[in-house]
Amino acid sequence: MQQHLTNPIFKVLANIAEQTKTEAYVIGGFVRDLFLNRPSKDIDVVILGNGIDFAEKVGQQLKTKVAVFKNFGTAMLKYNDLEIEFVGARKESYRSDSRKPIVENGTLEDDQLRRDFTINALAISLNADNYGGLVDPFNGLADLENKFIRTPLDPEITFSDDPLRMMRAIRFATQLNFDIDEVALQAIKTQKERINIVSKERITDELNKIILAKTPSIGFKHLFDTGLLHLIFPQMANLYGVDIIKGKGHKDNFYHTLQVLDNICETTDDLWLRWAAILHDIAKPATKRFEEGHGWTFHGHEDKGARMVPQIFAQLKLPLNEKMKYVQKLVQLHLRPIVLAQEKVTDSAVRRLLFEAGEEIESLMLLCNADVTTKNEYKIKKYRNNFELVKQKLKDVEERDQLRNWQPPISGNDIMQTFGLDAGREVGLLKNAIREAILEGEITNSYEEAFTFMLEKAKQLGLNQVTK
Ligand code: ATP
Ligand code: MG
Repeated sequence: MQQHLTNPIFKVLANIAEQTKTEAYVIGGFVRDLFLNRPSKDIDVVILGNGIDFAEKVGQQLKTKVAVFKNFGTAMLKYNDLEIEFVGARKESYRSDSRKPIVENGTLEDDQLRRDFTINALAISLNADNYGGLVDPFNGLADLENKFIRTPLDPEITFSDDPLRMMRAIRFATQLNFDIDEVALQAIKTQKERINIVSKERITDELNKIILAKTPSIGFKHLFDTGLLHLIFPQMANLYGVDIIKGKGHKDNFYHTLQVLDNICETTDDLWLRWAAILHDIAKPATKRFEEGHGWTFHGHEDKGARMVPQIFAQLKLPLNEKMKYVQKLVQLHLRPIVLAQEKVTDSAVRRLLFEAGEEIESLMLLCNADVTTKNEYKIKKYRNNFELVKQKLKDVEERDQLRNWQPPISGNDIMQTFGLDAGREVGLLKNAIREAILEGEITNSYEEAFTFMLEKAKQLGLNQVTK
């Protein structure tokens, strides 16, 4: 194991352990990630004794500041780009109403027992008699090799004590592509209601980590199968299921959404574009109708879905800022390129799409591509070809007409001055007419053509240009 501790900081820690006759161990995520060859930016060190005193000695030797958190009995210092946290070994016991344990001093094994999973309970010794030796009382290394998430204690107790661990189990399973122990999955099912004592922010942090993984569907399937999803994000759980009337079914929108999400993850790491994939069909259950002679329809699900976005963001304590607006816009427009691709792709339809999507046009095209989940090879081919056509047209039209972030070539003020008008209905009429003429391709997106067009239009409305 010694060869793993390549960073010179470990020798510094070992020397101080030696001088002060205190046992010290590297523990938790850092050790796990060493074995997985994943980079990690924080190191947790557990001290059999006082973690703060130990940290201060390290700080003196390295001539660096130490941040002390007296209430938690922990201390932290930075070494190059690493954050190193020191804590005394502890034993924890829990009350039913809080994630905050009652803490007392403990042995190394007590400290390992309070860890959430066996793979997170590995420790490496920094002590002279056993430097670099792995301390692994619960066979965490074997679980790492077998790709297995398991709790050191009875999982019913682990999850009841701190229900955030249920989210963490599913998050690690997703990030690492590990299986979760059947007994632990069962325990999540029985303890799921306990998630209610965890703050929304912490839950959403874990959810976002799941969404940022390579294949987020792994996590969402666990969340759904254990029943956690119904509690933390019921609108998404609601997508599940197929209704059949007169032998006609529709696709299961939960699994469709997961497929779209996994698809989009192949083309983007952006959290918010991934959220747009999650939410694109969120209003399908609410808009579902069976129409005689037609079958299932979801008319208006894009409008209703866009209206649901702020409420869902608020509920999940996601930011109510421009990120939300971005997701909302993508949900609103997600059908447009598909409709375009099905019809004859006219310049004016492409111009309208560009005008409405603005900067978000590339994201929107990625979302629509990801939305093609049919198994029908012929249909896939047809859609993809048409998308290419739409993309090419978008490029042509954009180069020619420059409609991204479109600003009217003639402002409301210009109109008022030209005709000596006050703000009012006629100004709006003229502005709209100019925009429509540009989108329809009757005039180009230029001041001169727009001005001539405006004069003509104004004449029809009985307005005269005032001379200055
Ligand atoms: P990551 O840094 O990728 O989020 P991590 O496992 O390092 O994963 P941290 O939150 O940094 O997670 O926690 C460090 C260590 O502390 C974990 O490896 C685990 O041993 C322990 N730990 C963290 N949160 C809990 C918890 N809720 N219950 C029990 N042990 C925990
Ligand atoms: Mg960590």
